[in-house]
Amino acid sequence: MIIGRKIHINGIVQGVGFRPFVYSQAKKYAITGWVKNSSAGVEIVANGHDVAVDTFIESIKIQAPPLSKIDEFDIQVISADNFEDFSIILSEAVEGEFVAISPDVAICDDCLKELYDPHDRRFRYPFINCTNCGPRFTIIKDIPYDRPLTTMAPFKMCARCQAEYDNPLDRRFHAQPVACPDCGPKIWFESKELKGQVFESEDGLRAARKYIREGKIITVKGLGGFHLACDATNIHAVGELRTRKKRSDKPFALMVLDVDTAQKFCKVSESERSLLLSRTRPIVILDRKSGVDLPDAIAPNVKTLGIMLPYTPLHYLLLESENGFPEILVMTSGNMSEEPIAYTNVSAKSELGKLADGFLLNNRDIETRLDDSVVAELDDSIYFYRRSRGYAPQPVMFKQTMSQILAVGAELKNTFCLTKEKYAFLSHHIGDLQNLETFSSFEESIPHYEHLFKVSPVAIACDMHPDYLSTRYAAERSCSQNLELIPIQHHHAHLASVLADNEWESDEPVIGLCFDGTGYGLDGEIWGGEVLLGGYAQFERKLHLAYMPLPGGDAATRHPNKVAAAYLWKNGIGWETDLPAINSIVSEERDILLTQLQKNLNCPKTSSMGRLFDAVAGLIGLRTHVNYEAQAAIELENAIDITVKDAYKFAVYDGQIHFAQLLNDLIQDLRKNEPAGTIAAKFHNAIRILALEICDVLSAETGCKIVALSGGVWQNRFLVRNVNNDLKRNGYQVLNHKLSPANDGGIALGQALAANYMLKG
Ligand code: ZN
Ligand code: ZN
Ligand code: FE
Repeated sequence: MIIGRKIHINGIVQGVGFRPFVYSQAKKYAITGWVKNSSAGVEIVANGHDVAVDTFIESIKIQAPPLSKIDEFDIQVISADNFEDFSIILSEAVEGEFVAISPDVAICDDCLKELYDPHDRRFRYPFINCTNCGPRFTIIKDIPYDRPLTTMAPFKMCARCQAEYDNPLDRRFHAQPVACPDCGPKIWFESKELKGQVFESEDGLRAARKYIREGKIITVKGLGGFHLACDATNIHAVGELRTRKKRSDKPFALMVLDVDTAQKFCKVSESERSLLLSRTRPIVILDRKSGVDLPDAIAPNVKTLGIMLPYTPLHYLLLESENGFPEILVMTSGNMSEEPIAYTNVSAKSELGKLADGFLLNNRDIETRLDDSVVAELDDSIYFYRRSRGYAPQPVMFKQTMSQILAVGAELKNTFCLTKEKYAFLSHHIGDLQNLETFSSFEESIPHYEHLFKVSPVAIACDMHPDYLSTRYAAERSCSQNLELIPIQHHHAHLASVLADNEWESDEPVIGLCFDGTGYGLDGEIWGGEVLLGGYAQFERKLHLAYMPLPGGDAATRHPNKVAAAYLWKNGIGWETDLPAINSIVSEERDILLTQLQKNLNCPKTSSMGRLFDAVAGLIGLRTHVNYEAQAAIELENAIDITVKDAYKFAVYDGQIHFAQLLNDLIQDLRKNEPAGTIAAKFHNAIRILALEICDVLSAETGCKIVALSGGVWQNRFLVRNVNNDLKRNGYQVLNHKLSPANDGGIALGQALAANYMLKG
C-alpha cells in the first residue's frame, strides 16, 4: 500500500548535511516526495510503500548526520501524492520561527584525508571543509543559514565547487563555506621586517613556520579570532610573549598535533582523551607530567597545562611535524591582557602590532568573535571553565515552555542568556565588562542573538548589584522599552544555573553550596560563602561564612596578605611579623590598615569563600598580591600534598561558619615549619568536611538529600572531586555544572530560569 507522511524535524538540522542525508535515504528506500529547510527546521513529505516509509523514518532518526541534533520529530499522516521522484526544494522562511544554529566544528576525518592527499584538488588548502565540518556560528550574519548571509558571500564559487554544492549526493552539498584554492579564501603572511612584501599560500605558511622556528611571535587568524603563537619550548620566545602581552602570570594555552604529543607533556586519561579529540576541540586542563621540560613562564606556579588539538586545516598545516620544528606551540588568545580577542585583520595589525613579529592572515571575515572554550574532566564528563567556540550558541533544552526573557549575567566572565519556547540560548563567553571593548561586544551580541533566534524579550533578568555594567544595561533597556526588570540575587542565580544544567524541571528546594568570590547580598553586604535552600523561584539563606571586614573593598581581592591580616584581626589574632603575610606589609601600611579596620573605614563586610582561600594563601606566604583573578586560590590548590589526610577545625553556630580555630592551628603549623603542601591539604580537607557537615545538618532539618554545587570555588578540581565523592558516599545526590561554568559564566542561565519561574509564580 502506498502511504503519505509529512515529517517535521527541529533541532540542529541545517548546515549539517541533513537534507542530502534525507535525500540519500529516500533513494535507498524508493521514497518519493521532497525535503526542504524552513526557518523552523526541516520538512519532509514522503510517499512510498508502508514498510519502506517506516524504515525510511527510522533510518532518519537513527543515522542522522554526526553534527545534527534532533530535538523534535513530528510525523503527520497525509494522503499520498503523485511524485515521480524525491527532490530537495528551496528554503522558505516562516514568520517568527527559528532554527538552532550549529556551533563551529573542527575539520572532519574525510576533509583531513583530502588535505594530505596530493591528488586531491584541495591538497593543503587551509580552508577545506564540508557539511560535516568547518566554520558555522562565527561566519553567520543572518538566517536562514545560506551562503549570501555568511562572510563567505564575497567568494563566488568556481564551477567545480558549485557542482559539489548542487549535488545532493556530494559531501559538500549545500556546505555554505565550501571553497577551493581557485575560488575560496587565501592566507598570506606579512611582517614589519618584510616591509610590505607579502608571502601567499604555501610561501606564507613557510614564512610563518620559519618565524616560529626562529623564536619569534606571530598572530594566526583562526575560527573565532586571532591567536598569538610561538615555540612553547623556547624560553626566550615564551618570556618575550609574556612581557609583551602584559599577562603577568595567567597560563598560556598550548596546541599540539595529536594526543600522543599531548601525552609527552601531560597525563591524559581516557575521558580527557575524548575531550581533546571531540569535534569541539576545547582547551583541556591536564595534569602536567613531572620532569617535563617546558619554560616556567607558560603556566607559572601551577601543575596543569591547558592543551588543545588543531581544529582548522590551517592549524594542521601550521603544526606539521618536521625536524627542528617545535611539537608544541603557545596558542594564546590574541589580545592585550583583559581585552577581548582580536578578530579582524585591521584590529589584529593595529592592536597586536606591538605583540607580534609577523601576521598569518586570511581574507575570510569573522562575524562573531569566539574565544577557545576551556574545559576539564569531572567524573568522566565535561566540566566547563569557559564556554565559547564549539559550544555556543547551542541551547540548553527543557521540557517546559518558557517566556521570552533576556538575562544579562554578571560583570566578570559575562555571558548572557535568552529563553524562548523550550530553549535557553546561553551566549558565548563575552568577558569582563569593565573593559570598554568587551562591553561594546556585549551590547552588539545581544541584538545579534535576539535577531538570530527571533526573541523579543518581555522581561529582563539581572544581578542585584546596582553597579554591574550588565545591571545598568538591563535597567536602561527595561526603562526605555517598558520591560519588566527582574533582579536575581547572585548566589540564587548560581543555584538556579546548576539546576538548569541538570535540566531540573521542579521547584522543590535543594541544598545549594554556593561558594564563590563576590556577589551582592540581600542585605547589601558582599556574599560568597552561602548555603542556600531553594529552587528556581525562591531561596532561603540557611548558613554563611561569618562576615569579615574587607579593607578597601574590592581592591583587597588583589592582596591576599591584607585579606589575611583582616581575617586575623577579626578573629582576635595578633599581627606577629614572623607570619609571612604580616611581614610582607610594610609597617606604615600596617598602621593604616589597622586604623582602617578599627574605625571601620571603607571596610565592607563579606562572607566570601574566595576571600578565605585568599587569606590562607596569604598566610602561608604563597601570594602577597595576585596578578589575575583567583590566582591565590589556584596556587593554593596546586600546593596540596594529597598524602595528607588531616584537617583543620572550624565551628558552625548562630547560622554562621567560623574559622578562628582553623587560623590559630594553621599559624601553629606555620611556626612548626610545616610544609605549605601540608597546610594547603589540611585547609582543603577542612572545607571538604565543612561541605558534608552542613549538608548533614540541613538534611536532618529538611529531609533534603540533593546538593547543588555552584560558584567559582567549585572550579577547584581537588575540592569538587572530593566533595562529590564524600557526598555521594553519604547518600546525597550531587548536582554539578554540566553545560555552563560553575563561575560567573553560568550566572545568566540561572537568572533566566529563575526569572521564568518567578513570572510563572
Ligand atoms: Zn569535512
Ligand atoms: Zn572552487
Ligand atoms: Fe559568582
